[in-house]
Amino acid sequence: MNLLDLLLSTDKKQRLRIRRSLLASLVFLISIGMMIYLSYIGKMSIQATSLLSLGMISTCLAFYLALRTGFNLRFKEPALTLPQILVAMTWICAAYANTGQAHAGTLMLYALVMVFGIFVMEPRRSVISASYGVLAMVSTMLYKMLTDSQVYPWQIEIVYLLLVVTILPTIARLSEQLSAMRRRLKIQKNDLEQACTQLERVAAYDELTGLINRRRMTEVLAEHSRNQTRQTEGFAIAMIDLDYFKMINDKYGHAIGDQVLSVFGESARKVLREIDILSRWGGEEFLLLMPKTNNGHPNIGIERLRAYLACVQPCPQIPELKISFSVGFTSYEKGESIYDTIKRADGALYEAKAKGRNCTVII
Ligand code: GH3
Ligand code: MG
Ligand code: MG
Repeated sequence: MNLLDLLLSTDKKQRLRIRRSLLASLVFLISIGMMIYLSYIGKMSIQATSLLSLGMISTCLAFYLALRTGFNLRFKEPALTLPQILVAMTWICAAYANTGQAHAGTLMLYALVMVFGIFVMEPRRSVISASYGVLAMVSTMLYKMLTDSQVYPWQIEIVYLLLVVTILPTIARLSEQLSAMRRRLKIQKNDLEQACTQLERVAAYDELTGLINRRRMTEVLAEHSRNQTRQTEGFAIAMIDLDYFKMINDKYGHAIGDQVLSVFGESARKVLREIDILSRWGGEEFLLLMPKTNNGHPNIGIERLRAYLACVQPCPQIPELKISFSVGFTSYEKGESIYDTIKRADGALYEAKAKGRNCTVII
């Protein structure tokens, strides 16, 4: 573990929170620098400078430890943004009250503290921080106007007061808008993810049969032939073509043809092994990939499907309609191109058709 990991944690979220908190500590560093300078030129008491600096440093450390030890995770808002902002505002009010003639400068830091919250805080918390900010600073101003009117004359203080009561709520409003934008972006991101998933599905599946389409099957086949160099299990493919399908379309209509295709897909999914991958290769042609064909009879699944379909009525209103198919079957030979395998299966299918259909030819 390197030093940065040790200081900032390896957890991504915690790391971000700690970094943000350390960045916010800059406000304190600037305040401390300003106070040291003021006490150096004699415009601020050394005692006030030391006390305030010590207080600010301890607060920074306390927040750092709370974040680094994971204590923050017990809270609903684990970044502890709101408490950090409220504490920072309190210290800046104290600095405002103790920096004499230079006190107006602290107002800039006051606004900066609010800005830190706008990127992460939800609207309710922004309103709380702005309300507290206005209340704390206005009270400090009133107190100083009454107790130290020479350095904090009301004629000037009133200007600062107006700035505080207008600028802080404006920042809170901006924070609200940013929060709404973040919410919208999140919704859009979810929608986009959903659309992508749907698009992937549409690109890979055939709508009518629910089987993967030719494009996806081509990828699957390429993957399998690539893996063959490492595996010994082998695989086979079967080119399946429904028999006399044109006649079904012509005799009963295209819709019945569609139903036949859909029933075929459904039946094949039911009957074939789970590891077999069936795709709709084109019109009424299906390409079946059968992995792990070294043991047993690879053809058995196809014959089971043939027997199953012989008993299925794809359209109850046409009882005489049955689905039969012809198959060209071949095993993948190590090292050959998958297109050669497909070509061989095509040749076998052609033979099966020539032999009278409703049968399988193995090459
Ligand atoms: P064979 O037994 O020799 O395979 O003859 P066949 O009639 O099955 O083969 P052919 O290639 O002559 O006809 C296939 C028909 O499949 C032609 C085409 O209109 C039809 N077809 C292709 N896609 C679809 C589809 O999605 N739905 C429907 N209903 N028909 C389709
Ligand atoms: Mg065909
Ligand atoms: Mg056909």
